[in-house]
Amino acid sequence: MNGRRYAEVIVNAPIGKTLHYSVPDTLLAEIDVGRRLKVPLGSRLVSGYCVGLSSDSPSGIPAKKIKDVAEVQDSFLALEPAMLRLTQQISQRYHCPWSDALEVVLPSAVKRGHKTKNVKGLRLARDRNEVAAELPKLSKRAPMQAKALRVLLEVEDGITPRELSHLSGCSLSGIRSLMGRKLVESYELSPREDSLVKGRAPKSPHPPFILTAEQESALNLIRSKLAENKFGVVLLQGVTGSGKTEVYLQAINEVIRKDLGAIVMVPEVSLTPQTIERFGERFDNVSVLHSYLAGAEHNAQWQSIREGISQVVIGARSAVFAPFKRLGLIVIDEEHESTYKQDNSPRYHARDVAIMRAKEEGAVVILGSATPSLESYFNAVLGNYDRAVLTKRIGDRQMPPVEVVDMRQEFHVGRATRLLSHRLEHYMRQSLSKREQIILFLNKRGFSPFISCQRCGYVLKCSRCDIALTYHKRYHVALCHYCHWEAHPPEECPDCKGPKMNYFGLGTERIEDEINRHFPEYKTMRMDSDTMKGRDVHEKALRALKNGEVDILIGTQMIAKGFDFPNVTLVGVISADTILNLPDFRACERTFQLLSQVAGRTGRGPKGGRVVIQSFSPNQYAIVAAAAHDYEGFADRELEYRRSLGYPPFGVMARVVFRGRNEDSVRKRAFRVAKTVQEVGSSNGHRREVLGPAPAPVSRIRNNYRWHLTIKASSHDALADALRKTDAGTIGGVRGIIDVDPYNML
Ligand code: ADP
Ligand code: ZN
Repeated sequence: MNGRRYAEVIVNAPIGKTLHYSVPDTLLAEIDVGRRLKVPLGSRLVSGYCVGLSSDSPSGIPAKKIKDVAEVQDSFLALEPAMLRLTQQISQRYHCPWSDALEVVLPSAVKRGHKTKNVKGLRLARDRNEVAAELPKLSKRAPMQAKALRVLLEVEDGITPRELSHLSGCSLSGIRSLMGRKLVESYELSPREDSLVKGRAPKSPHPPFILTAEQESALNLIRSKLAENKFGVVLLQGVTGSGKTEVYLQAINEVIRKDLGAIVMVPEVSLTPQTIERFGERFDNVSVLHSYLAGAEHNAQWQSIREGISQVVIGARSAVFAPFKRLGLIVIDEEHESTYKQDNSPRYHARDVAIMRAKEEGAVVILGSATPSLESYFNAVLGNYDRAVLTKRIGDRQMPPVEVVDMRQEFHVGRATRLLSHRLEHYMRQSLSKREQIILFLNKRGFSPFISCQRCGYVLKCSRCDIALTYHKRYHVALCHYCHWEAHPPEECPDCKGPKMNYFGLGTERIEDEINRHFPEYKTMRMDSDTMKGRDVHEKALRALKNGEVDILIGTQMIAKGFDFPNVTLVGVISADTILNLPDFRACERTFQLLSQVAGRTGRGPKGGRVVIQSFSPNQYAIVAAAAHDYEGFADRELEYRRSLGYPPFGVMARVVFRGRNEDSVRKRAFRVAKTVQEVGSSNGHRREVLGPAPAPVSRIRNNYRWHLTIKASSHDALADALRKTDAGTIGGVRGIIDVDPYNML
């Protein structure tokens, strides 16, 4: 050895290969695989990760041409070896640059090393009315800034710039310009109590429950897996309220006793405050990774996990990367949820990454759900996963009876314009007269999803997307749910100049409107992403519900999970059909899951409960099975359908989307790539099938035309062969985007 060592570095730039640098003597002691480095690239210094070290100079490069590593960053190892291998696997599985996979692991707050204790919050700089008066003008000139202002007008508490940007879709520079206009100002916000590193240490920890027989055997199965100290997956399938969370809690107890770390993933942290509270009551040192954590808080949390101070981490998707050095368990609650899939690069699925990580680190994975994804269910059927089933609710509570109302019949009796069937209305009056509470569910926000001309049928669309605009009554705007573009709805038809535009279809805002008119003596509350903005709004809303300040709760999928209110005795699904007809091979699965989940919000107390599902296709098997609480019946039927068409879990799938301003070039590129992939298909033995190319169901977004093709293959390896030929990236103004194991089919 000549004393110089060479570092292989992946830089955060679209280079697509490993670069080599030499390590100066001064850095020899510090450098290690997994450290972040600064290295020269052209005339700049860029950030990168050391992914390998060797004493020999890389072959083919004259030693003189190799530049020095400029700097070793951080005082700690950013990526443990297992995490480094995980990023490599992610890049292989999802066919993304290794640098993208590396970038997603370390939170940016950690990269920037945020230390400040004080968090910057935003508030209105002037009187509410003054600010509101600025809105119309601003809407025209800078609609996103207007949106941000509207959010600020609605939230009461402090909100960080990042939160505001996230909630409104307005960029940070847009927010800065609002500050420049003296409409918004910043001030010091005190850090949030519940996200402090130590969590809210319980004064007297909640004792574990005595388990039911079913829980006991589930826990025993998990225990036996943990005792082996090696990788394993347990599918914990249990109806809503069957005590899955209690099983997680006691399994984590075991893990902590062995001085290992546990990760608990939930679909969305802010939607599950009740669950999170239960973890806080049971354990010390729980880290809750809220998506809105300010930089310093997030950094502190991350460090405390790395140092082994925190033993339990709760978070959404990205919690899968929590930097435990010794990991024992990963729990994925509601494992079937599509929020676990990330929709920009790396387009990873946190459940699948959790399984990869557990394999690397010899940990156990619990997949919990009342309605497991068919992928997980099928793996259990094949014997790849162990399965434990909780068939009964705790305390002998019955699953609520579910009635499906055929809305075509209601149509015949002349109630077409009414949103409530006779039956649902009858049950509502019954519950309300007993001072019990009701949840009404509809999977669409806004007032009405179509604005169309009474005379010619013209449907108002976004000027930039191939999408009908949704009418939002409160602001009297027509809004694009894809790109946030908004306009004042026209008085007359832009096409035929007809005098009347109709607002068609139902959204939660319309439900609220009509319920208020119909039941004026009762209090309603609406929970959807339009009304739930800012910190703590969910907690507040749930408290109101708990304290009986609300009689009728109306909401989107936001209310489908996590709540547990014994006084809710009726759940009404306004329309079960919203997802069913989407061009998505998971449409039935998603319908079944959503209906089961919503139905699970009732019957949790001694008063029991019931569910009414309204549908125009009441005999559809997903709806029939959900009404019968029949997961197996649904899964068997759905698996048959998937098998016949070769959809996952029978084989795997990737979607390639092409998008660009010029439709012709987009189409040509799609055809060219499809042809190449087809040729690969015939030249080796793997089963592979290409569907398309065709215009994507949403054929234009933000003035970008979109075409797509779908590749089905027998395995990820077979898929990878084909994907290597698709050369993603931007060519001639057309971007190619590869999505492996896609969830969004639009
Ligand atoms: P799931 O996660 O399957 O929806 P939970 O774990 O939330 O079910 O359990 C439902 C309710 O029953 C909760 O209020 C929980 O505290 C309670 N519970 C769970 N297990 C037991 C048990 N073994 N004995 C008594 N109560 C329990
Ligand atoms: Zn749009």
